[in-house]
Amino acid sequence: MSHFEIIDPRFRALVLPNAPLETLGTGYRWLEGPVWFADHDCLYVSDLPNDRVLRWSENGGISAFRQPSGFANGHARDRQGRLLTCSHRHRSVTRIEFDGTTTVLASDFDGKRLNSPNDIVCKSDGTIWFSDPIYGISTDYEGGKQEPELPPTLYRLDPASGELRVAAADFIGPNGLAFSPDERFLYVAETGDQFDDAAPRFIRRFAVGEHGVLSGGECFHSVEPGNADGVRVDEQGNLWSSAADGVHCISPGGELLGKILTPSLVSNLCFGGRNRSRLFLCASHTLMAIYTNTRGCVRP
Ligand code: MG
Repeated sequence: MSHFEIIDPRFRALVLPNAPLETLGTGYRWLEGPVWFADHDCLYVSDLPNDRVLRWSENGGISAFRQPSGFANGHARDRQGRLLTCSHRHRSVTRIEFDGTTTVLASDFDGKRLNSPNDIVCKSDGTIWFSDPIYGISTDYEGGKQEPELPPTLYRLDPASGELRVAAADFIGPNGLAFSPDERFLYVAETGDQFDDAAPRFIRRFAVGEHGVLSGGECFHSVEPGNADGVRVDEQGNLWSSAADGVHCISPGGELLGKILTPSLVSNLCFGGRNRSRLFLCASHTLMAIYTNTRGCVRP
């Protein structure tokens, strides 16, 4: 159990003592935005500063999927299974259609350009929720230095009507996000100011009301060491968060249950594999995976 840290006995039932922490590939610059395609039995993951998206499968290993990628970061699938992508360089959210063409779903709000969409989820009603911090345009490293025109914001997009609206605006750096299994709650990582260590960093929890209107937004949990960047929810409603020392598992009540410890910082993660029980980890320069004893919530 060397790579597990059990903090609460409930964590024992969620992990497999003999499951190894596997390295699937290494030597990337910085991995982000993983998404599992069960029907293709593969993972797509951004190698962000290298401006490419990689594809991993058990039999095929790693190959380049898209390069250049517009400095793609977060990915998700919509209700039809199409790939949704956050692009830093193009400051947009896009969708790849079945014929391979790309549709820009959102690139501006109120006549001003988005900053650098970071992470994204699709709700069961088809609405698309994404965070828009300034990280991707504050340096040349992850998309190119550009001037922000809008404050850091969490958006809700209705692709049926095209309506883009502010879901929550009181953020310094909105980042990873995930709905609870019943979609009554939305978790959003606040990752603060990248140049100010004193800036607050914590996971917020919003109540999702009628027509997708959010309320609350209180501090749900503070990840230590490091901070939550990407977050995912399992079938039982536990939150799995990236952290500087690996992955932290947090109960629906906000208690830290345990950790999967990794040699390098984890920025993002997702469930996948045949039973959605395999956790894929963007561990800095290395793609890792570990089988768990739970399953990812059905929505990607
Ligand atoms: Mg992120």
